[in-house]
Amino acid sequence: MAVAHLTIDLAAVRANWRTLAAQSTAETGAVVKADAYGLGAAQIATTLAKEGARKFFVALAEEGATLRTALGPGPEIFVFSGHMPGDAPIISAADLTPLLNSVDQMLVHVESLPHHGFGIQLDSGMNRLGMEPAEWSALRSLALAQAPAMIMSHLACADEPEHPMNRQQLECFLKMTEGVTAPRSLSATGGILMGSDYHFDITRPGVGLYGGLPFSDALPVVQIDLPIIQVRDLLEGETVGYGNSWRSRRPSRIATVNAGYADGILRAAGGQMHLLVGTIPCPAVGRISMDMIGVDITDLEDTPDSLQILGPTQDVDSLANAAGTIGYEVLTSLGSRYNRRYIGA
Ligand SMILES: *Cc1c(COP(=O)(O)O)cnc(C)c1O
Repeated sequence: MAVAHLTIDLAAVRANWRTLAAQSTAETGAVVKADAYGLGAAQIATTLAKEGARKFFVALAEEGATLRTALGPGPEIFVFSGHMPGDAPIISAADLTPLLNSVDQMLVHVESLPHHGFGIQLDSGMNRLGMEPAEWSALRSLALAQAPAMIMSHLACADEPEHPMNRQQLECFLKMTEGVTAPRSLSATGGILMGSDYHFDITRPGVGLYGGLPFSDALPVVQIDLPIIQVRDLLEGETVGYGNSWRSRRPSRIATVNAGYADGILRAAGGQMHLLVGTIPCPAVGRISMDMIGVDITDLEDTPDSLQILGPTQDVDSLANAAGTIGYEVLTSLGSRYNRRYIGA
């Protein structure tokens, strides 16, 4: 079989959720937007629901509807983008809780679904989503009278605990929610790691569940093994791949493996990335093609059947570093061609 294998360890996801949950007294939710960062929202969410998670977060109402089918009734599903015109039938049918981001969304919501629950998203400084202080003070008493399911905001710099923006946003959030009895939520993975001041009533970890930074103690969740399709021996001075960008400096043995940028192996990682046999690194050589990567296996004693590109030794953040990006982008780029296998269910 030529298809690459993507293994997702649900036991590791469970353990990561439990470890993050143990760091606070808040209720721990789970962010499963973008199909659980590309790893499969249905599998991840049902696993975490069995583990005790009761609050899930998605970006779009449509994602929420798919998730509801997987989870069934019971767990709450919050929608970060709030209530957009046209969303009412989905929000109602799938019993979603929109996190309202503006006066306009509030109006859309109360007009179309007057008795349906909602939460509020506040902008404490990130300038991305949520009501700003002035808008919120105009709406506050009206909104609070309807007992919102949650009042939340999001930190812009939580991956840098020392960044002064964190305190600034915390103080802004505290001021905006002074005297509020509704459950409050400020922290994603990074905020959980910053300590109890940031925890409030509900936390919203995403990337940490999937083995990514800033949760440096996370267990690795994803493993990708690429079958070797062909092996060739090069003389000194021969080149590999598009643009002749790599030239052998010694007689070399080059393996071609079956995955490329169409599978989310970012082209920018080309020069810096390794593929592994156990813990032995073999450098990727030449440009990453759409479906193939060349690997220098000259120093291996035997030719293996496959090489690992993602796993315990080269994790999502190492691979991200090689491409000059973040683990989040590596995970969400992985694509649909892999033979996916879930273990540890
Ligand atoms: C994506 C997201 C999260 C999860 O963030 P991680 O850094 O992946 O833990 C939490 N809250 C909001 C509003 C988000 O957009």
